[in-house]
Amino acid sequence: MPVDHIKMLCDISDLNSLLSEKTFTDCLQKAVEMVSSHMKADICSIYLYDEAYNVLTLKASKGLSPDSVNRIKLKPGEGIAGTALVEMRSIAEVNARSNPSFKSYPDSGEAGFDAYLAVPILRGRFKIGVLVVQRNSSRPFVEHDIMALQATASQLAAMLEHINLLMITDTASSKRHGASRSGTSSYRFVKAKSASGGIKFAPAVIKNGVRRHGPALFKGSGSRHTLEEFENAARSTESQLEDLQKKVEEKLSDAASLIFASHILMLKDEAFLGGMRRLIEGGTEPVKAVIAVFEKYKRIFSQSPNHLIREKVQDIEDLTVRLLDNLTQSETEETAYEGKIVIASELFPSDLLKLSAEGIAGAVLVSGGVTSHVGILARSLRLPLVIVDEPDLMNIPGDTPILLDADMGNIYLNPGVDILDRFSERLKEKTGADSTIDIIPGSCFTADGTRVFIRLNINLLSDLSQLNIDDFDGVGLYRTEFPFMIRNGFPSEEEQFFIYKKLIDGLDGRPATIRTLDIGGDKVLSYYDLQKEDNPFLGMRSVRFSLAHIDIFKQQIRAILRAGHGSDLRIMFPMISSLDEYLRARNVVESCMDELSANSYQFNTSPKIGMMIEIPSLIGIIDEMAAETDFMSIGTNDLIQYTIAVDRTNEKVSDMYLPHHPSILRSIARISEACSRAGIEVSVCGDMANREKYIPFLLGVGISSLSMDAVYIPRIKKEVGTLSMKECARIAERLLSTGRISEIESILNGTV
Ligand code: PEP
Ligand code: MG
Repeated sequence: MPVDHIKMLCDISDLNSLLSEKTFTDCLQKAVEMVSSHMKADICSIYLYDEAYNVLTLKASKGLSPDSVNRIKLKPGEGIAGTALVEMRSIAEVNARSNPSFKSYPDSGEAGFDAYLAVPILRGRFKIGVLVVQRNSSRPFVEHDIMALQATASQLAAMLEHINLLMITDTASSKRHGASRSGTSSYRFVKAKSASGGIKFAPAVIKNGVRRHGPALFKGSGSRHTLEEFENAARSTESQLEDLQKKVEEKLSDAASLIFASHILMLKDEAFLGGMRRLIEGGTEPVKAVIAVFEKYKRIFSQSPNHLIREKVQDIEDLTVRLLDNLTQSETEETAYEGKIVIASELFPSDLLKLSAEGIAGAVLVSGGVTSHVGILARSLRLPLVIVDEPDLMNIPGDTPILLDADMGNIYLNPGVDILDRFSERLKEKTGADSTIDIIPGSCFTADGTRVFIRLNINLLSDLSQLNIDDFDGVGLYRTEFPFMIRNGFPSEEEQFFIYKKLIDGLDGRPATIRTLDIGGDKVLSYYDLQKEDNPFLGMRSVRFSLAHIDIFKQQIRAILRAGHGSDLRIMFPMISSLDEYLRARNVVESCMDELSANSYQFNTSPKIGMMIEIPSLIGIIDEMAAETDFMSIGTNDLIQYTIAVDRTNEKVSDMYLPHHPSILRSIARISEACSRAGIEVSVCGDMANREKYIPFLLGVGISSLSMDAVYIPRIKKEVGTLSMKECARIAERLLSTGRISEIESILNGTV
């Protein structure tokens, strides 16, 4: 791409930051001016699409007469711009008038500028609008102009989606003179930062915590208490923690015991409560005594060279506040949180776990102050969470309807139907409204009777209860890093044994594929200093970490083997990059078995041992790999990232993250063929397995097992049921026959 086009992209990305300072109209105008100047275009226009009214409206232009703005309206399919939108493709014409869809607007000032390029602006599958540039026909747009404008459109898409929504809302409210289709006077938009994605629409509930300033807040309370009240408060705290643990354990057994165990342990530590007791007996007022002991511990812990101990400060603070709450009775009545979006000025990991167990829909954390721990925990609990510096949100009335778009970091208070309509599809997707699709019960077959194994991906044990156990074929991927991520230290072998056993018992004899620790990259452990790496996705992550920390690795393998006694156990190594590395990992399993039998443990003596295929270096040695392993599972999320060199978490390059890149398709076919030659099972457990449009290809190249999150299973079972293997093989053959992404897209979209 020429240098000035790259400069255009940089300028456009700066434009995003202007949004908060300028009005929408200014922003749009700036965008068209910038693009027209970089593209040396005489005209540049932005059309935005209003889905509710099915109309595309000219919203800004450099070059067309100003009165055309908001006046030129197109139906999708009408004009070249409308066609580009409907067909979701770029259209370039040397002479626009020769295009049968061309629509002329004589007063608009476009005469003479017939070289035309229209690029649709899309966010995923959602249509936002069209970006158009025009020049004199003597200077038609060429291939690199098209690429540059496409890159610009994708760069602008997020901002335009946002502007579009707000413009639609504004128009709707003014049209109705305040009569509330859009919530009107009370409608409010707040820009926040996403900490954990997801989209939810639910009433708000305010969580008034006193913990913002920690125990220090109680210092000035002036209240006086007795030793007896202190003892009562200690007892209440202990029983609350035990109740909490029990309650949460029913839903999140892997998480709960790990988080609250340390609080309970601390409370049982004689030096902690005993220290307080002694001060009170010596005449110190109980609140002051509690705070004095807390501060002493905090000082000692936070000065420790050991980061594991430093991390305990948060636990002890959490515990002390709970104790003080009980002593001063400052926490009043219980609030109902179920199904609501919690607005809080602070959230501790234990709060988030508790709220999640109570079934909240999402959370808004006002006035910053989030630890990465809370963000990670929210992600693992799949709770949408945003952070925003707007303390006045704590004052909104309870039950205010909120649309929380945590993917974008947007909060809509009192959104009208206009906005809700635009989110309706995504709300269904994100809330797992696939439950509206009746799941086909029992085993899964194609229309012509081929059995396809549908397995479940799980992160927390609670995922297991989302479906009837007979409606899927066991677990195809258990991401064991989650219990490691949500606690304050490495879980012991016994703690892991307990979690894995619970999973295996819940499967009632069906396969349990347990993936060993896959941390690093974007999955960090707050309690373990992984040391800064310039390229963490290419660094000390995943099985490399396990092999470099053999004690941690062995503890996990022993726990898995013991828990898997008498079950269909499959141990899976992530991020394997060579045969030698795989054999080293497999040797660790063998030596763990020797140790377990030497110590007379019961354990699974013949687990299947396999690996994920996520790194392209395995493709060249795939037959040798298949000969040594019991099964393979293709982790397409990482395989795509590493094959195309495109960061799966980077929004800026998300349009390059293509599961259907010809190299990915051919790699999957090669892996599948090698597994078939070796007579072993091959599955896909990355996100490609949950996209209907890729299922015919995957089945067509011989993938026999698909593993995905529970929410996708009803839809994918339904899709498989409509397919015939013969047709799948034919589609796969066609897809594998071309090296062009565009041709693959046409085949997948059914346009050729
Ligand atoms: C994958 O990479 O496709 C995969 C399933 O693993 P994860 O998403 O946990 O990295
Ligand atoms: Mg992966």
